[in-house]
Amino acid sequence: MTVASKVREICQELVLSPEVLKEVCDCLQEEINKGLAKDSHPEATVKCFPTYVRELPNGKEEGRFLALDLGGTNFRVLLIEFSSKCRMDSKIYAVPQPIMVGPGDGLFDHIAECLASFIKERNLGNELLPLGFTFSFPCKQEGLTKARLAQWTKGFKCEGVEGRDVVELLKQAIARRGDVQIKICAVLNDTTGTLMSCAWKNRNCRIGLIVGTGTNACYMEKLEKVELWDEVIDDPPQDGDTHIEVSGVVINTEWGAFGDNGCLDFVRTEYDNNIDSESVNPGKQLYEKMISGMYMGEIARQVLVRLVSEGLLFGGFASDILLEKGSFFTKYISEIESDKSGDFNNCRAILEELGFNDATDADCANVRHVCECVSRRAANLTAAGVSVLLNRIGEESVTVAVDGSVYRFHPHFHNLMVEQISQLVKPGIKFDLMLSEDGSGRGAALVAAVASRCAAMR
Ligand code: BGC
Ligand code: MG
Repeated sequence: MTVASKVREICQELVLSPEVLKEVCDCLQEEINKGLAKDSHPEATVKCFPTYVRELPNGKEEGRFLALDLGGTNFRVLLIEFSSKCRMDSKIYAVPQPIMVGPGDGLFDHIAECLASFIKERNLGNELLPLGFTFSFPCKQEGLTKARLAQWTKGFKCEGVEGRDVVELLKQAIARRGDVQIKICAVLNDTTGTLMSCAWKNRNCRIGLIVGTGTNACYMEKLEKVELWDEVIDDPPQDGDTHIEVSGVVINTEWGAFGDNGCLDFVRTEYDNNIDSESVNPGKQLYEKMISGMYMGEIARQVLVRLVSEGLLFGGFASDILLEKGSFFTKYISEIESDKSGDFNNCRAILEELGFNDATDADCANVRHVCECVSRRAANLTAAGVSVLLNRIGEESVTVAVDGSVYRFHPHFHNLMVEQISQLVKPGIKFDLMLSEDGSGRGAALVAAVASRCAAMR
């Protein structure tokens, strides 16, 4: 056997057949049903939290809003203005690693400090602007402005926040400072923001998807399918209450946790096990760990290390850098796959950064193959998830709003997903995947805007 075919053989376990993907779809469908049903919800891994967002924007939203966006690569504060267009001013703030894993009060004090300095810099101190808070972690929503953190994900682990209402924690931190006034109108997940942001101009949008640091999706579900709704409904429509159409609700699936009950073990590999056991949340977010940007590079690194150890790469010698956990960044995958076929410019530059100065063309081709297997698997698994939602919604033509660094920057992720969804979706269902510009920011303002519209109509 040639080296290349041995490499292919080892990578084969990352290749998911149509049958396996179909099985993944069936499992997810079942887990979503468990999440939505009252009896099984407490034990369900895919929680399917109702969001309290029952209406999509109509494009006529107006006014100025503040938004906070926590939970992706960056923390941001935004000022958003809707008229016929949407204008936006924003600033990125770092969340230092010690704050990500320190006490909860420290995190919220930091957020409040960034917000206060933004308000001062932009001279917004004398207006009481409505604020939407995009908090991109699994939360049990108990109202549009009340969300209890179920568990941390994506490398955050601040003590004293799980089980608490994050809006309350933010309000307390702002009160501790005492120098700014704010009016929090909505707390939402980034998937909801992404859906809203796209639905603002696109009538067919029913799904919001993130493939970034983490992964998750939300979708518009019919109320009668949401047994949980009975429990959460705050304000049931009265007879004769015709102006609010309460037929659906946005469900935050939290599909990142799919597989946490073992149901995905038939696709998981030794690499996935290693990544999980070395993470800050072992046993949790197993689907996310096969898909999202926080983990994809590390999966590839583990495969590369294995190939070196079997003498199939770099003459059997690893560099010190390659042996370090986290040294193969997810963005390398996008860059390596952006090389034109037959040319390895990006690949070679990255290998040099990793300490390999004399990689052969064959090495480069093999490294590229590893990257392709890892990203293709992620795209196929995401596609399986989206197909399940499209099939549930069952409408003829649905737009999926997508955001996140992996979807944005990987050169083939979109096409790979489209190809795979087409294979998995019921005949007759048309779909498109649309990049949703800045869902977490604009979406937060839209939820706040729609909330104030609904309140005004009551
Ligand atoms: C979180 C979700 C979030 C997703 C994308 C996951 O880790 O649990 O709430 O939507 O990341 O940011
Ligand atoms: Mg984001």
